[in-house]
Amino acid sequence: MTAQTTTAWPTNVFARYLTVAGSSLGRDDLAVDLTHRLTIHNPPEPFATLATCTGCQATEEVGHWRSRFAFPGAMEEVHDPETADKRAREWAQEHAETCRAMPRPEAAR
Ligand SMILES: [Zn+2]
Repeated sequence: MTAQTTTAWPTNVFARYLTVAGSSLGRDDLAVDLTHRLTIHNPPEPFATLATCTGCQATEEVGHWRSRFAFPGAMEEVHDPETADKRAREWAQEHAETCRAMPRPEAAR
């Protein structure tokens, strides 16, 4: 058993992938957080899935809308948040497995 500190997730974070640094230090705040980016509409609508690493500040944004060929010569916009979430999760997982970044310890100041 390792001691694990549990910090509250930031608002809107719907998935979190602990980084290598986070798991070796037992710190669950070193992670890749997934959130949805919202439009300024009222009510706001998600338009992209954003993965943000709290260790090194790397980000990856995957839009919910993408273009595809409807028929030869024509494109249509497809709303596909599930695929965007999936791609963001894959990026988050892959980044978390390799990220060893950690913030400067408070005591070292
Ligand atoms: Zn990172």
